[in-house]
Amino acid sequence: MNNVAGFTCVICGRTYPPDFGGYVCQDHGSEGILDVAYDYDAVATDMTKESLAADPDTTMWRYRALMPLSPDSEVPPLTVGGTPMYDAPTLAGDLGIARVWVKDEGREPTASLKDRASAMAVVNAQERGAEIITTASTGNAAAALAGLSASVGFENVIFVPASAPQAKIAQLLAYGSRVVLVNGTYGDAFDLCMAAADEYGWYNRNTGYNPFMTEGKKTAGLEIFEALGWEVPDAIFVSVGDGSIIGGVHKSVKDLLALGWIDHAPRIYGIQAEGSDYLVQAFESGEEVITKPPISADTVADSISADLPRDRVKAMAAVVDTEGAYLRVSDDAILAAIPVLARGSGVFAEPAGAAAYAGLVEAVELGLVGPDETAVVLATGSGLKDVASAMTAVTAAGTEPMRVDPNLEALKTELAR
Ligand SMILES: *Cc1c(COP(=O)(O)O)cnc(C)c1O
Ligand SMILES: [Zn+2]
Repeated sequence: MNNVAGFTCVICGRTYPPDFGGYVCQDHGSEGILDVAYDYDAVATDMTKESLAADPDTTMWRYRALMPLSPDSEVPPLTVGGTPMYDAPTLAGDLGIARVWVKDEGREPTASLKDRASAMAVVNAQERGAEIITTASTGNAAAALAGLSASVGFENVIFVPASAPQAKIAQLLAYGSRVVLVNGTYGDAFDLCMAAADEYGWYNRNTGYNPFMTEGKKTAGLEIFEALGWEVPDAIFVSVGDGSIIGGVHKSVKDLLALGWIDHAPRIYGIQAEGSDYLVQAFESGEEVITKPPISADTVADSISADLPRDRVKAMAAVVDTEGAYLRVSDDAILAAIPVLARGSGVFAEPAGAAAYAGLVEAVELGLVGPDETAVVLATGSGLKDVASAMTAVTAAGTEPMRVDPNLEALKTELAR
């Protein structure tokens, strides 16, 4: 792995060499998540702002000098990354702030940001000579692993809670994964998957365990800054379940600060559902996330439903180090944000994606984002992932279709009402 300097435990700071074959710190078991460290001088030799500007590759692999893979590693053929970030003046006007951008991760091949991590997993699994990959997931990480694996013919076994939305389960089955529907929560699926990976020696893609997932997800952050010409927005809004995406966004900030490509960090805001607010609780109380026990999560936003955020150490650091905050939003506010975001920007997001926008609304109300400030909303997954919630949301917004008999008179009567 070209520019990797080693791995550092997020709990104790113990370091491991670049060729370390494990996933976690030997002193801390599955809690001892590692952070990938880089030789930034070497990165700066391989990649400059100018070389990026001239690079025709618009996928996430354009940042490979800053990723844990070799220059000649084969990457999956699916187009991951390079998603659009839209200026949304209507939303900015409604909120009364200077500027809002919406980054549409629903445009990934399996329709969520998780493709960035699963693509990284497939490359790493191949480099390690693995034959089978496994993950537990609330749905999207599984769909991403299923799709990316299918693109290279990799076998995979997926553990999801039996309550996952139908569209996500359909994706897994269509891609030909071996699907295990677990009668229990995501936490139960996670524990079972970890035990199975251990038992059978499968490559373990699990979030908040495999240190490479952050490195895939951070490419969304790198794209945000590159799209803004390496200017720093005032605030970035990210919805949070396990805390891996927000940790990835923070990693992109740390990388760019180390390279000297940006001179300060944006404030990062982590948004959680009221019924799945482990990190908000810890942020408010100052409780240590290493020891804080699990909660019992329940929210309409299935992708951010987590009893115990697996990547909570990185997730807390993302907000504390950048002087952002953790905020909670109700399920009603999350559902209400779906049509508001869709109508104000054209981006149709699943509940967990719209939650980030609901968080921005909350932050403006609390005065955390001021009238002269700019904000990026990371819309993490497509609205087509969870059509049932979208229907609930538009009904709650009072939007109903017209029903007419197939003649112009009937249409005229209905339109005149
Ligand atoms: C996974 C996911 C999230 C949350 O990411 P974490 O890394 O678990 O915090 C948010 N939105 C969508 C659509 C997701 O799939
Ligand atoms: Zn450790």
